[in-house]
Amino acid sequence: MAGDIPLSQPDITEQEIEAVTDVMRSGRLSIGPRQARFEELVAQRTGCRHGVAVSSGTAGLHLILEALGVGPGDEVITTPFSFIASSNCILYVGARPVFVDIDPITLNIDPTKIEAAITEKTKAIIAVEVFGNPSEMDQVAAVAARNEIPLIEDACEGLGGAYKGRPVGSFGRAAVFGFYPNKQITTGEGGMIVTDDDRLADLCRSMRNQGRAVGDLPSEGSWLAHERLGYNYRLSEVAAAIGVVQMQRLDELMAKRNEVACMYIEKLMDMPELILPNIDSKTDMSWFVFVVRLADDYGQTERDRVINGIRRHEVGCSNYFPPIHLQPFYREKFGYGKGDFPVTETIASRTIALPFYTTLDQTQIELVCLTLQVMLQREQLLRPNDGNGEQ
Ligand SMILES: *Cc1c(COP(=O)(O)O)cnc(C)c1O
Repeated sequence: MAGDIPLSQPDITEQEIEAVTDVMRSGRLSIGPRQARFEELVAQRTGCRHGVAVSSGTAGLHLILEALGVGPGDEVITTPFSFIASSNCILYVGARPVFVDIDPITLNIDPTKIEAAITEKTKAIIAVEVFGNPSEMDQVAAVAARNEIPLIEDACEGLGGAYKGRPVGSFGRAAVFGFYPNKQITTGEGGMIVTDDDRLADLCRSMRNQGRAVGDLPSEGSWLAHERLGYNYRLSEVAAAIGVVQMQRLDELMAKRNEVACMYIEKLMDMPELILPNIDSKTDMSWFVFVVRLADDYGQTERDRVINGIRRHEVGCSNYFPPIHLQPFYREKFGYGKGDFPVTETIASRTIALPFYTTLDQTQIELVCLTLQVMLQREQLLRPNDGNGEQ
């Protein structure tokens, strides 16, 4: 369909395609030089000593919690307004997620509310740069440091960004990036742990490779010796080769995404029904998605109808993110319910993620904005007692 505009699309050039065919011809499809190069590039960019490539962002989060020794009986503080992986990893290790509500401006975990949630059992804090916005991450880091609790940055939405000059990925004991096709860079599937902690990096390297000693190679006699419980969370050389090229293109990709975000802001700025992303002057934004919010007098039913209407016009859009604590298995297992985290709930009920990727042009953005505008006008007419003469 000519008018089809997806929610997201990866930016793949001939360079990535050539890098993949080079790997295929090399005969070395796993545990090779591309992984090492990709790790180096991401570590450099974030100012961290180590990069540990893994099979997904989720796998990276799991390994960090394991490496920190978090387990049954422990609590981990995190945000309920995120993609579900930032919380599910806590369940993988048998610990309990303790949610703290978000700041209504940054949409990240509210640093002023964290301390009240800390107990003797708190073993880590997982913070997320939601939608790529690293705002106030320094304050979260300060709370973690003051209470001597390790901060894990789920930086899966923030690669390339910075706050007050500090790169995303450098705020905590360790951070994780994700490379699913809708992220700033992609490897198809993939992730990367970054850290300055030598011991933590080595533990993660061992655990991603079935608990083998770090540096063990398949050609060696020790290949079937396993020092600890591990997983197969390795990243293939094919994926790492794509990652190397995408990392080399990161600034270009970020600049294009920034242009698209600016075009959206310009087009939507004057619509009183919308609340636009709020990026403060201390933030170097690496845009992950473009999410607008309906004004406070709209409800979830109206928001959902707007989303469905936009989708019917072959324009992708989504409700980033439904609150994690209201997902059925969280409610059931931990007894969470409506009203537990009111800021998250009110914001989550009114968000709309619009199509966002590097190659969106001015005409497509106009088409998206016009479609959104028509759906909002429809909502106005559907409102009872709104003085339009129909009632
Ligand atoms: C994308 C993402 C992840 C990781 O996703 P994978 O698909 O496992 O790579 C984790 N946390 C957040 C907040 C994300 O957006």
